[in-house]
Amino acid sequence: IAKQEGGARAKAFHDEIGARVQARQRDKADLRAAVHGGQMVVHYQPIIELATSHVTGAEALVRWRRPGRGLVRPDEFIGLAEETGLIVPLGAQVLEAACAQGARWSSEGRALGVTVNVSTRQLSSAGFEASLLHALRVTGMPPENLTLEVTESVWADDAAMQGLMAVRDSGIRVALDDFGTGYSSLSYLQRYPFDFVKIDKSFVAALGETGRTAGVLRCVIDLADVLGARAIAEGVETPEQAEWLRREGCAYAQGYLFGRPRHPDGWDDQPAARGARPVRS
Ligand code: C2E
Ligand code: MG
Ligand code: MG
Ligand code: MG
Repeated sequence: IAKQEGGARAKAFHDEIGARVQARQRDKADLRAAVHGGQMVVHYQPIIELATSHVTGAEALVRWRRPGRGLVRPDEFIGLAEETGLIVPLGAQVLEAACAQGARWSSEGRALGVTVNVSTRQLSSAGFEASLLHALRVTGMPPENLTLEVTESVWADDAAMQGLMAVRDSGIRVALDDFGTGYSSLSYLQRYPFDFVKIDKSFVAALGETGRTAGVLRCVIDLADVLGARAIAEGVETPEQAEWLRREGCAYAQGYLFGRPRHPDGWDDQPAARGARPVRS
């Protein structure tokens, strides 16, 4: 009997592995079709300047409108896109859409910078610089209104760093995303220039829990300043967090308190977005 049970268990195990492999193959095929078939949509979340409460920018965040599954969040497919290399055409699409949206906003008289997440794999791909310059050219987006968000993993990849520094020469800005969760070293931080430091939402969420978090956050805001960058706090959900950050000299904030990521058509429906400042003439 034990032998039979063992055999049944082994079969169940094999069936399960087989089912997972199949599901993964299906996800890959679906993702490929989605990237090439226009199922990717870009939403935008407002970034506000804490000193004035004005919206000064927007982060582009991709979603997959997957048939039968609704709007799928990036955490569920960016990993697979990176593994399969699909991140390269996907990232190029997001860049072009974000540049087009930025150019549209500026033609409506709104001074909104647009920030776009780029993966290390995308940055180190051969055609990256060309696809970025193409996106700027066809949309008419001024390079200085575009910020690329990279994570600390970029330090470990020479080709990606070179790609990044090459495009920075054309006036594009660079933000270090999820700061404090990866592996930055002080030597990298002082060696390479970047314009913004995005403080990861886990630090903001822990504010008020212990005095230590507050102390660490103060140091990160100061560190950004010393490095010639501006701090952007992510995941701001309460007025208390926003007020604390403003008082401590954090320049910008982003979070559900000010607005969720939205399709550009619904952007003006959120309170914070209506505060977007017109271009100064
Ligand atoms: P991220 O770049 O750190 O983006 C911020 C994430 O925090 C977004 O999740 C946003 O919706 C969420 N968020 C914003 N405010 C709040 C808040 O107040 N509370 C909480 N709990 N969360 C908040 P989302 O849109 O699911 O994106 C997840 C990650 O996927 C992004 O993290 C980014 O790393 C990646 N990603 C998104 N779009 C792209 C893309 O076009 N290309 C690449 N390579 N990665 C992308
Ligand atoms: Mg980001
Ligand atoms: Mg982040
Ligand atoms: Mg992230």
